[in-house]
Amino acid sequence: MVKKRVDGREMNELRPIKIVPSVIERADGSAYLEWGQNKMIVAVYGPKEMLPKHLADSQRGKINFIYRMAPFSVPERKNPKPGRRDIEISKVVGEALSHAVLLEEFPGMVIDVYVQILDSNAGTRVAALTASSVALADAGIPMKDLVTAVAVGKANGNIIADLNKYEEDAEDAVDMAFAMLPGSEEIVLLQADGILSEDEFDKAIKIAKEKCQEVKKLQIEALKSKFKALKE
Ligand code: ADP
Repeated sequence: MVKKRVDGREMNELRPIKIVPSVIERADGSAYLEWGQNKMIVAVYGPKEMLPKHLADSQRGKINFIYRMAPFSVPERKNPKPGRRDIEISKVVGEALSHAVLLEEFPGMVIDVYVQILDSNAGTRVAALTASSVALADAGIPMKDLVTAVAVGKANGNIIADLNKYEEDAEDAVDMAFAMLPGSEEIVLLQADGILSEDEFDKAIKIAKEKCQEVKKLQIEALKSKFKALKE
């Protein structure tokens, strides 16, 4: 068990997070987020009519979530064509957001959410989810709560919050993406690889819930800062 993390953080300390809403004029809602080295832009368009029509659900709206990494966002140039990972993240993150958005208010419609990763160092899916719910709120889309996400897990014998890429690559690494609605603590995303004991799992979930409440405060501050700026 090592006593210090490679970047000097405490075991349950998040990397610095910065969230700026309303950064893209053309979009209905948007957000820019930095989470440690991770940097991303989210743009929301809609709700609008679902086309082609046969994809529409007459009972509720749909979220079309598109996660893409820029070729320059990883150490070796990434092929800009979406790979399996982009498609998987788009699916699970879109589903997580669908638990918060009041989709029954938009039958037959779609909300497009585009995430472009500009720079990355592990934890981009949870950062994207966190930023997307700010962008959806910025677009005025009705939601029962924000969605707040963090990664927790294990590296070098310790249960830790917000793994960086170096920690994700540790021999005993467990990387667990976690997202919840912070009001009800309803879990809307839980993905993990690696092995944890039951005690370690419980500890990781407890940290994830605490850290989500911390991240939620930053989301709310970001949204409030927008309305404060509008008033001034
Ligand atoms: P997450 O970003 O949600 O943690 P992964 O665990 O799949 O998702 O990826 C961990 C990290 O690995 C990413 O944040 C990124 O820095 C890096 N990565 C992902 N895809 C590639 C790639 N094609 N080439 C190099 N690095 C990548």
